[in-house]
Amino acid sequence: VSAPATQQATLVKRRPLSPRVSLITLQFENQIDFIPGQWMSLVFPLFDEKQKPIRRSYSIASARSSNEVELAVTRVDSGMASNYLHDAPLNTPLETKGPQGTFFHTPNTPSLFVATGTGIAPFRPMLHAAIARGDVNSIHILFGARSQHDELFAQEFAQLSKGSSRLKFITSLSQPSAGWNGKTGYVQTHVAECFSQLQNASTAPVHVWVCGVRKMLDEVRKVLKNDFQLDRTRIHAESYD
Ligand SMILES: Cc1cc2nc3c(=O)[nH]c(=O)nc-3n(C[C@H](O)[C@H](O)[C@H](O)COP(=O)(O)OP(=O)(O)OC[C@H]3O[C@@H](n4cnc5c(N)ncnc54)[C@H](O)[C@@H]3O)c2cc1C
Repeated sequence: VSAPATQQATLVKRRPLSPRVSLITLQFENQIDFIPGQWMSLVFPLFDEKQKPIRRSYSIASARSSNEVELAVTRVDSGMASNYLHDAPLNTPLETKGPQGTFFHTPNTPSLFVATGTGIAPFRPMLHAAIARGDVNSIHILFGARSQHDELFAQEFAQLSKGSSRLKFITSLSQPSAGWNGKTGYVQTHVAECFSQLQNASTAPVHVWVCGVRKMLDEVRKVLKNDFQLDRTRIHAESYD
């Protein structure tokens, strides 16, 4: 396996998606071809305690390949890399490696995507690719966030799934503010219901893709294992920590 390509990028755009999440656009000289689900590693002009440059990975959130790559980045409290991406002036150069990773969707498979926060990022290109391919199987996305302010790509996903019997976008809020009449609580409390619904409506086995922090991944795996004896080959996970 050859080492991932090192390429120079420029941070050219930044747009808030929520109070703590920004969509960051990196511009490259050439088109960056990626498989939906892949991530890029960024090398920062920041150093750890051993004076080694800090590197962090970010899922590619762009709908499709181009010479720009979009990343949805959460500002983590006192996190060096994420604060740098939120605060660096536009036109800051960054060294990147990749795209890399093997968190791939399997086309034409009834799919449940589960994400919290910026864990939704890899599902954006996966969803766009499935629509572009004309996949005939269902994709249900279960997304968890704190409140209405923390929804990510909600309008876009609602628009994409509008009028479709195969695409469904479900949001659960752990701390909704007044007026919310959708699901509440942590995503793992809705996984069993969402999985059953999808399985009952499908002739082929449902696979689950889950992305976010490890604590959530573990809770989701637990439900799928205990309630459905789901085989590990049907659970695809990407951990952010
Ligand atoms: C394959 C992969 C893909 C990733 N993709 C993304 C992405 O698309 N968007 C993104 O924001 N982060 C993503 N991350 C996390 C990212 O690499 C960094 O860990 C994160 O930005 C924190 O780095 P930091 O230097 O700011 O903080 P650090 O000082 O390194 O602090 C790390 C702390 O932040 C927590 N943390 C990490 N990611 C998140 C998050 N998204 N939300 C809340 N807490 C978090 C960890 O649990 C840990 O406690 C990904 C990680 C991996 C391994």
